[in-house]
Amino acid sequence: MPTLVMISKKAHEGPSPRETWVRRVFVIGYVALTIAMFANPRFELAGTTFTVPRLFWTVGLPLLPIGIVIAGFYPWRKVCPLAFWGEQGRRLDRLVKARSDGKTDDAEGKGKGAKAKPAKPGPQRRMPKWAEAWYPMIALGVLWLALAGRLVLTNGDGIALGILLVALGLTAALVNWRYTGKTWCNFICPVSIVERIYTEPNSLRLEHNSQCTTCTACKKNCPDIDQENSYWKDVEEKAKRMAYYSFPGLVLGFYTYFWLRAGDWEAYFGGGWTNQPITRELLTGPGLFFAPWLPAWAAAPLSLAAFMLASFAIFVGIERVLAKVWADEELRRHRVFTLAAFTAFNLFYLFAGAPTLRKLEYGPRVLAFAVPLIATMFLVKRWKRSRKDFVEERTAKQLLKKWKFKDAPPDDPAGVFAYLKAKESSEEQQLAVYRESVREAHADGVVTKAELQLLELLRSQLGISDGQHRKIVEELQTDTTQVLSVERELQLEGYRRALTEAMLGNAGEHEFRRLRREYNIDKPTHEKIATELRGEHSPMLERVREGLARITELRRDYLIPLAPLRASGTFELALFVLERMQQRALERVLEALPLTVGKGSDAELVRAAAAALSQPDVERREQALRDLSGKIADDFHRTLTEVVREPKPASSATPDEQAFHAAIERMLAHGDPHLRAGAIQAIGHLQLQAFAGKLAGLLGDEEPLVRETAIYASLRAPTLLQPAQLEALLRDEEPQIRRAAREAIEALADPGSIAQANPVRVVEGRTLPPIPDDAFSALATADKLLFLRCVPLFHELDPEDLHEICDIARERTVAMQGTICEQGDVSDDLYVLISGTASVMLAQRDSEVATLGPGDVVGELAAIDQSPRSATVRPKAGPVRMLEIRGNDFRKRVVQRKDVAPKLMATLSRRLRETLAKVR
Ligand code: SF4
Repeated sequence: MPTLVMISKKAHEGPSPRETWVRRVFVIGYVALTIAMFANPRFELAGTTFTVPRLFWTVGLPLLPIGIVIAGFYPWRKVCPLAFWGEQGRRLDRLVKARSDGKTDDAEGKGKGAKAKPAKPGPQRRMPKWAEAWYPMIALGVLWLALAGRLVLTNGDGIALGILLVALGLTAALVNWRYTGKTWCNFICPVSIVERIYTEPNSLRLEHNSQCTTCTACKKNCPDIDQENSYWKDVEEKAKRMAYYSFPGLVLGFYTYFWLRAGDWEAYFGGGWTNQPITRELLTGPGLFFAPWLPAWAAAPLSLAAFMLASFAIFVGIERVLAKVWADEELRRHRVFTLAAFTAFNLFYLFAGAPTLRKLEYGPRVLAFAVPLIATMFLVKRWKRSRKDFVEERTAKQLLKKWKFKDAPPDDPAGVFAYLKAKESSEEQQLAVYRESVREAHADGVVTKAELQLLELLRSQLGISDGQHRKIVEELQTDTTQVLSVERELQLEGYRRALTEAMLGNAGEHEFRRLRREYNIDKPTHEKIATELRGEHSPMLERVREGLARITELRRDYLIPLAPLRASGTFELALFVLERMQQRALERVLEALPLTVGKGSDAELVRAAAAALSQPDVERREQALRDLSGKIADDFHRTLTEVVREPKPASSATPDEQAFHAAIERMLAHGDPHLRAGAIQAIGHLQLQAFAGKLAGLLGDEEPLVRETAIYASLRAPTLLQPAQLEALLRDEEPQIRRAAREAIEALADPGSIAQANPVRVVEGRTLPPIPDDAFSALATADKLLFLRCVPLFHELDPEDLHEICDIARERTVAMQGTICEQGDVSDDLYVLISGTASVMLAQRDSEVATLGPGDVVGELAAIDQSPRSATVRPKAGPVRMLEIRGNDFRKRVVQRKDVAPKLMATLSRRLRETLAKVR
């Protein structure tokens, strides 16, 4: 039964850390092997002389096809060392063109006399059309030449083999330099035919795809974006048929040639060929034992070609015979491809590695067992597959993306369609689902208009009649939106995104040229996209509009109704989350604002004013607002003025119960779990009985943070929940929730024992969350988050980042006689005090130099630079409860994150400046 694993097409996943490591090992192995080839050491083992070529041909190479089949197409494409050298071609391109651009810029700067030759990126960097049509035969042709070359040149000569490995790497780099993308892998690499024929239509394991970070649309029906889509689109191509049917013959022909030349199978199985250096005799000697007049250099390629021809003829014959059984040409072709792959795989392992394996006692037996097993598994999986299955599976995945039901989705297409049929009851709804699925499958490149009848299963499940189906297909045909190829769409989408970023960063022509080359975009396309991005209906303007609308909504629905309760601290978490949302929306607006004004002096003025609006200096902000007046739309200016002047709406009015209850309702239904948790905290602190029912429902929330906060709220307001309502959480998958539920149930059983909710505390201007209820042995994540926010180092971080730190923060209590840290110790852990006080002592003075209290932090610098402790810190008047964060975890999970590091560095340098100012 097919499992609906989502394979990302639009989002580039990149190699996983494990794949990166494997690739490093492979590349180092490739280099080491090449060096070893040139050194050509020999050693004796069990009476056999081993050379590097012998190990390469009889141990390394035989592992390749089986490794690719087991690992899968995408993982292999991400770790292949040859693909790595190909990527270096793209890097080389960037390097060389960056230099030539520099010269171009210089030349442009020198005026008319200077000769500038601008680079011309564009469609000419794609392989020609004939290569697109014949790519399987190109790769097979290269493999044929390489194998013929092996037979008469490189088989047993270390140096020749070393040169071959270097040449392959260099060619891969040069091809991708000239043609962009993965042209080498897709059109020329001799291994590509092997990796495709053995893993199509999709691998044994489903993995994330191997598409490039920057797609240049180098290949039509790119297999790195979607292997199976590529397979079905090409399945009836002439060149593919020729290549796949000829391939088993090439495999058999290669090994048989040893016999054809020597007249004896021992010529191959004896393994002597692995130690045979290049000689005139090897190249020009008798090529066939029965026709010694034909030199080997001609006999080898001719023999291979003859085997390929014979193989092609056999499989064409099989195809013709099967025509009587399966009328569907596509299905027939697919199944004969499957047979060809199965035959080639087994033939290969009949010979590959045998010269060395037969020296091992169990070698041949292991191979004889493993190879047919894997080949048969693949045969069965592949045989049953059809394009219809593929289309249905993809359509089901499209539907799963929009799954809006509480039940877990079924894991096969038929189940998904049947579920939808049961749920979407009205005919109109069923039709809408079908129309949407058809449109998306078509836009995704999965089906062409002519192939839409493949959605037969979906049609019958949703009860769509033929007439309705025809009408939808007609709509699609009259749809004027041009559907681009998946690759072109990916290329343009990537370019649009990169260009937007570049424009937001105020990039110049030089950067645009670099991007054009990187994405292989011609100038007219660039101009079109740039105009779209700047114009009247530009996405930038849309971004500003959306951002300001979001700010207005946040203020109207939440920040203003909650303002009268700000001082109580009960909405501390909720307000923190809401203000960060507002800040992020404002940042996005200010980023895009200059691009809505077009080019010229106005754009410069708006750019400068937008930058000044995020400055702390009030006068600069006011001046910026004055500068923007008349330059941007009035309603934009009004909202900006409001939010810039008063980011935290203040209110002297008494709370409007109806308004803040409505705000809580909205927060509880919000998609952000931090906001839901913030609302629950407030319900607990304010003991809002009206929300008891809602709170009970949130015990089943999908986010652990929300479930946990609801349990803690149950003790702050013991009348809101009953112990029985918490019982289901005793079996929760999260251990901290099981623990909290147990402690809450015990405490609720004896309400008299529950301590009064602690008041919100304000320490030196910072609002700290209440000390945890005694009934709980650990702080709630939401409280940890608020404590961490009090730490100046973390003050700029977003709730999501703080949540990540909460996950690595461990709670600890240090007894009165204990030590938090000792001066001179090398430790990089960081502590945040929750309750109690601590003395900071210097050995030089032997006296207390400072007292720390709740919300204070110990070791924030050491966590980053791992310097020894500069003071001793001990509890002062009783035990100290604190959060401990391991320096190593902190650096790995937080400091090294690209989006967080700049905020941390900005806070650190600001604190350093403040300290220096104090010293002065
Ligand atoms: S089409 Fe795009 S994703 Fe596919 S190999 Fe070429 S550049 Fe990479």
